[in-house]
Amino acid sequence: MQRHVTIIGGGVIGLSSAHALVRAGHCVTLIDAHVEVARETSHANGGQLSYRYVAPLADSGVPLQAIKWLLAGNEAPLRLRPRLAPSQWRWMTQFLAACHQRTHRASAAQMLALALHSQQIMTQWRVQDALEEFAWQQRGKLVIHRDSAALDRAAAARVAPQDQQVLDARQCIALESSLIHQQPHLSGGIFSASDETADCHAFCQALERKLQASGRYTRLASTRVAPLSAHDGRIAHLELTRADGRRERHAVDTLIIAAGNHATELVRPLGIRLSLQPLKGYSLTLPLPADTPKTAAPRISVTDAARKVVYADLDTRKSRQLRVAAMVDIGHRESDSFHPALDEKRIAALRQLASETFPDAGDFSQATPWAGLRPSTPKGPPILGRPQQAGRPDNLWLNVGHGSLGFTLACASGDLIARAISHETRPGTLLDTLPDHLAEQLGF
Ligand SMILES: Cc1cc2nc3c(=O)[nH]c(=O)nc-3n(C[C@H](O)[C@H](O)[C@H](O)COP(=O)(O)OP(=O)(O)OC[C@H]3O[C@@H](n4cnc5c(N)ncnc54)[C@H](O)[C@@H]3O)c2cc1C
Repeated sequence: MQRHVTIIGGGVIGLSSAHALVRAGHCVTLIDAHVEVARETSHANGGQLSYRYVAPLADSGVPLQAIKWLLAGNEAPLRLRPRLAPSQWRWMTQFLAACHQRTHRASAAQMLALALHSQQIMTQWRVQDALEEFAWQQRGKLVIHRDSAALDRAAAARVAPQDQQVLDARQCIALESSLIHQQPHLSGGIFSASDETADCHAFCQALERKLQASGRYTRLASTRVAPLSAHDGRIAHLELTRADGRRERHAVDTLIIAAGNHATELVRPLGIRLSLQPLKGYSLTLPLPADTPKTAAPRISVTDAARKVVYADLDTRKSRQLRVAAMVDIGHRESDSFHPALDEKRIAALRQLASETFPDAGDFSQATPWAGLRPSTPKGPPILGRPQQAGRPDNLWLNVGHGSLGFTLACASGDLIARAISHETRPGTLLDTLPDHLAEQLGF
């Protein structure tokens, strides 16, 4: 049966859900607070479609490692700013409880299955729907290590060893010649030839061009949705505030929340308590001239494991840019949510790390800085499906909490939610509804 689905959120998760629903024959109205799509966390992220590196942040070694990082300077991968907000303490407690090998393994398996499904759906959409101009490349991902013990641990922890090759330092440089300046510090790396990169913002725009051409999609721009209310077990309408301050009601048939960090406050009046924290991160975008030599800037995607910095070459026929992304700041003020502030010290540290690693790539003081908030669950896997709590509205679906992997997991999350809405799947998570062949392939 054809449904009319309203989606709150025009980031990569909302747009992927919209595309999957329109493909399945449904009609979509998408509502977003901004004038354009992908103006928040999906705007200038790391550009990694990191299908084989999906391990959640919560891991057994993390609490000890975090203490070391907290004592480090502005270049530290992790920084904690404790606040009085009970939601932050609740999340931290749940996060620490998840820093356990068994929980980590179970979450990683769920995320790997979702990621591999995402790669298949991305291929389908790219090829069948001719999505273009979003700098998609399949040049592989090289994770470099600066000490041999860390390399050995990473080699032992590979989730898809058949697709992840262990390389020594010489082989890393043969593969990616711009790493030449790192030669004295490199122990080696792990290379996944099938991983991809792309520009998330441009992907959202490409999806929207397709949606607009379908005739079954409308977007209400510059429109903010008020926290939700339900009557008789259903959400009948949304309260909207338009750009000019006008208030309106929007009638709802089926509703998906894809509002990233703002999902918590939207569903709170319904008695649904989501454990999400906005984990702040930063990126730089450096324009690269077309004639940039191979030895200057990376062509394949590079992750510097010790420094937790990712590099992606975002190359379209029109322009070439190097995207650098890193850092996790915990303890974000809620009032800052729609416009996360740039921390100049963090940005300066990121410019320094990038220019040390790729000194010939260009002038990183000219790179455009950006900050975004990863909507993160304590364990790692997103919240995907119909809430199970008693009394939850019948027509409400959640697609939130994709943390540092929203671009990687977006296509699968959209696909699963569209299938579930088409088949009226009962309440509960959709993470265990992945196609059977994937579960078999992964040995579940
Ligand atoms: C530094 C950094 C690097 C990253 N690198 C990668 C990477 O390399 N690969 C990867 O896979 N992921 C990466 N991520 C994570 C990824 O960017 C996020 O997981 C993803 O963008 C989340 O998408 P979203 O659609 O859930 O949220 P968003 O993109 O934030 O979209 C939510 C939308 O909802 C709208 N909204 C919210 N509330 C309301 C309301 N009440 N009314 C109207 N509209 C509303 C907002 O306006 C917003 O547009 C990175 C994140 C950061 C910060």
